[in-house]
Amino acid sequence: MTDENRVSAGWLKLASSLSHVARPQATEAGTYVNLPLERGSTVVFPSLDAMQQTGRKRYEHVSIYGAMGSPTQHELEKAIATIEGGTDTQVVCSGLAACTTPLLAFLKAGDHCLLADNVYGPTRRFAENMLKRFGVEISYFPPCADAATITALMRPNTRVVFTESPGSHTFEVQDVAMLAEVAHAHGALLFLDNTWGFGIFAPFKHGVDVSIQALTKYPAGHSDVIAGAITVADTRLWHTLRDAAIQMGQVAGPDECWLTLRGLRTMGVRLAQQAKSALHIAKWLQTRPEVARVLHPALPECPGHTYWKRDFTGAGSLFGVVLKADYTVQDMQRMIDALKMYGIGASWGGYESLILPTTGGITRSGESPVQAGPAFRLQIGLENPDDLIADLEQGLQVLKSA
Ligand SMILES: *Cc1c(COP(=O)(O)O)cnc(C)c1O
Repeated sequence: MTDENRVSAGWLKLASSLSHVARPQATEAGTYVNLPLERGSTVVFPSLDAMQQTGRKRYEHVSIYGAMGSPTQHELEKAIATIEGGTDTQVVCSGLAACTTPLLAFLKAGDHCLLADNVYGPTRRFAENMLKRFGVEISYFPPCADAATITALMRPNTRVVFTESPGSHTFEVQDVAMLAEVAHAHGALLFLDNTWGFGIFAPFKHGVDVSIQALTKYPAGHSDVIAGAITVADTRLWHTLRDAAIQMGQVAGPDECWLTLRGLRTMGVRLAQQAKSALHIAKWLQTRPEVARVLHPALPECPGHTYWKRDFTGAGSLFGVVLKADYTVQDMQRMIDALKMYGIGASWGGYESLILPTTGGITRSGESPVQAGPAFRLQIGLENPDDLIADLEQGLQVLKSA
């Protein structure tokens, strides 16, 4: 298999289930292909008895009250649980809420939470501010650390190990099965932010207990939705998570859920194309004399590449680039401003290409692979890759002429 086919294969495998999951059954009278969009707060019942019976079904993805999820949200939850391979999913208002909700659900004062040093910045901010304020101890492990290092960092009160693979901005791929083994041996749960690996990394086959998704990214896919999802490995975890979500009022709007379901239909073909283009562009960047390092999990120079090769059935649309130390951050900024095909902005996973400088935006307790020079992150969209390369080429000319 060529590298380009290898990074898109997993996405294409998903295509049939993405087309069929969470669709209404056709009836004799005829049925629209897509689910209706139902907006609402109050749900009414034919009798008090029916209301009370339904009220007891809070773990069952049924409509009780708008703040506990709409029919559209419940269908999306079933679709995400199917793709992730878990028992149940809770959809929430953002990807960040999908990181914070399970931390609040499973931790208490006096517990310790061990996080990967390369977690999404706002996850780290939440741990440092909110969790510490509520008496939870926080520490970090070096990405790609071995079992002995992780074991040494576990404390008697460690209840959650939180990882992200590949990590935000620096793209280290983790040995998730090893992390699960160490966490479980110490009575802790393993959480994984699986946003990059959605559909191409099977979290529960590798021992993950709680998998987190920013639906905002690949599933919605059009940069028009903010939503998140938390999927769990078993029913016991589901009850704890679901109770916490209800207690905190965690829910997503029906319009967001409907748009995310629509986005899911095309996610397989979108990402197959985007993954191919992204690898093609990453390889082209590797040949450029201005570039020190390309941090793409499918390239051998990416930390943890062997785990990507072992565990993933495809690759994403997002990767990092480190420029040679000859260039300054100001030189890079001139290059970024000269680009015409890449939007300058946060987020990723949509149909359009984006660039974001990462220098100055990365917090690490330990060493980071972004050290040599100024660095940026590319999200590759559905544009023609030749146009995207031509634009980068003229941008690199601007960088050099600085
Ligand atoms: C974007 C992102 C989130 C948060 O998603 P939002 O919907 O923007 O809140 C969480 N984790 C990772 C890895 C992300 O890239």
